[in-house]
Amino acid sequence: MSTALAASTLRRLLLWAALVLLVLALLAMLVWLAGRYEISQIQSRLERDATDTVTDLQATFARNAQSLLGLPNDEARAGTWADEARAMLRQRRELVRIERRDNAMHLLDHVDTPYRQPVFDGIGHEVAQTEAAQACATARRSSGPVYTSSFFAPSLDGLGVEVMSLCVPLEAAGKPSGYVVASYSLHEVLNGLPAGPQTRGHELAFTEGDGTRLAMRVSPRRGNRVFTAQHLLDLPGTTLVLRLDSWRGTPDLFPNVLTALVAAMSIGLLSVMALLGRDARRRLKAERDLADALAFRKAMEDSLVTGLRARDLQGRITYVNPAFCLMVGFSPEELLGHGIPAPYWPPEFVGEYQQRQAIRMAGNLPPREGYESVFMRKDGTRFPVLIIEAPLINAQGRQTGWMSAFLDISEQRRIEELSRTSQDRLQATARLATVGEMASLLSHELNQPLAAISSYATGSLNLLNQTDSTVLDLSADMALAMQRIAQQAERAGKVIKSVHDFVRRRDQARAPIAPRALLDDILPLVNLQARKLSVRVEIVVESDLPPVHCDGTMVEQVLLNLARNAMQAMDHDAITDRLLRIQVDRVRGAGAAHWIEFRVTDQGRGIAPTVQQQLFTPFFTTKDEGMGLGLSLCRTVVEQHGGALVFEPNLPQGTVFTFTLPVARHEACVDASVAA
Ligand code: ADP
Repeated sequence: MSTALAASTLRRLLLWAALVLLVLALLAMLVWLAGRYEISQIQSRLERDATDTVTDLQATFARNAQSLLGLPNDEARAGTWADEARAMLRQRRELVRIERRDNAMHLLDHVDTPYRQPVFDGIGHEVAQTEAAQACATARRSSGPVYTSSFFAPSLDGLGVEVMSLCVPLEAAGKPSGYVVASYSLHEVLNGLPAGPQTRGHELAFTEGDGTRLAMRVSPRRGNRVFTAQHLLDLPGTTLVLRLDSWRGTPDLFPNVLTALVAAMSIGLLSVMALLGRDARRRLKAERDLADALAFRKAMEDSLVTGLRARDLQGRITYVNPAFCLMVGFSPEELLGHGIPAPYWPPEFVGEYQQRQAIRMAGNLPPREGYESVFMRKDGTRFPVLIIEAPLINAQGRQTGWMSAFLDISEQRRIEELSRTSQDRLQATARLATVGEMASLLSHELNQPLAAISSYATGSLNLLNQTDSTVLDLSADMALAMQRIAQQAERAGKVIKSVHDFVRRRDQARAPIAPRALLDDILPLVNLQARKLSVRVEIVVESDLPPVHCDGTMVEQVLLNLARNAMQAMDHDAITDRLLRIQVDRVRGAGAAHWIEFRVTDQGRGIAPTVQQQLFTPFFTTKDEGMGLGLSLCRTVVEQHGGALVFEPNLPQGTVFTFTLPVARHEACVDASVAA
């Protein structure tokens, strides 16, 4: 489990690392490409500038050649030549010298630029001569201006200048009439270029083929990176190489808008990735939490002994837990999706259960405390279950079905049955014990009617033996005596019957019984003991009491037990006023309209605190001949009826035992309607 987790974590980390690397590589490439693009832009601009500059230069050269042709070339105006040439030199700083030569290349006239020392005053003159002669020869042949290659003309001040000469052949009346030779200072040619956008910021130079600079025009450097463009300047007779150097600063990380845009997008991308990463982390955490919660839920459901089952609104089973499957003996596959009637419904109850379902589907809520039912296992055996059902509400608050919990109550039922049987046995035993105790009392009590019967019988016999009496008198006396005998016999019979009734086990059917009738039934037995113990018995029954719903025999036994305990408590020499009061009232107070209260009060010695604690413990007794079962049975009986048995001291002396019994149902209804 943990290795699998570690492997999946490692894989996820690797994937993330690969993604980050890819994105970083992509971004780096984008920035690099943007930089490249920027460089190519600069380069192509420079190339364009070089082309423009070359065009400008060509125009300048062509214009100058044209102007040189326009100088006076006939002897008549030879005097003005020098003036015009000088004026031209003043205007065109790039020209350093203009010469007029005859056809044999002899110098006729020359003018030097006023802006510097004459260039050919030094040692450069010879070179210039040779170069010019060659150019002029070519020019004559081609009948057009021809340029010499550039050469260095050292000057007297030791500096010198790179010079290129131009020879323009002159013609007069269709015949060669000499040459004009003009010399350019290449340096000034560059300097004389108009300061346009194509030259601004560039370093301009004429170079040789190997890159040696012949003349250059510098401009302030603005960085340490140089871009170079070279262009050929084709002139008749020679070719110059124009080189443009553009100095730029180290390209910025974001040299232009494009790269800035790319960078901004990259930052955006990285931020989105970071957010995605955070989101993924959160999701992962939520997933883990969910998995934990699910695992916990599953463990809980699996370990439950309560069966769980969910059904949709159509009654189809949507979920069962293992406990439920174990209970009914069906597998989840057999149950899931199964509709009504369910496979665990006993066939004999299908009709009833279907009706119950219909009521439930109609939206009636089942009782909160649950209801009992009978299910059938797969092997056909039936078992009782307690079902607690509740509506299944989803996250949106809508009911999607029903959730039920099941408890197999067969074991509980078995124990209840067992305890009921033993309870019955105990009660029978207790009754028999009471009977044993009463036997002596009974013999004493029966003595009286029997003695009376025997004396009436003796009297009657005596009467029959008196022959002198009149038949009438005799018959009247005899009738009275027989009546008494019958009364006494009836009394004796009642005494026996009351014991018989008490001992005889009757069905435990509960029925509405008037409280008075309960007392009447036990009174002969109570009186028996009361007479023996010299106890006065007082019965107070509230008038118009409704019947109570109870098992008469049992309640009579409770009353008899309490009365007997009360009388025994007063069986003490010190107690002279021995009064047993049995009182029956309605319970007063809110919600108490359905209860009747029985109070058995004595004036005995009361109950000691140590005794109080064990009073209801079976077999606890303080009496030599006691069994200690009376009170525990009394309480069980009362509680079985839904009532309660309590005791409290009676003031000034003695004890009061109180118990309650429910009023019979139809009576309760009458009460309720009257109150309404
Ligand atoms: P038993 O009567 O066989 O002893 P019970 O369960 O009826 O068994 O009573 C248990 C004990 O409770 C009695 O032994 C007695 O000490 C005490 N007791 C019961 N009722 C009274 C009473 N009215 N006054 C004083 N003590 C009582």
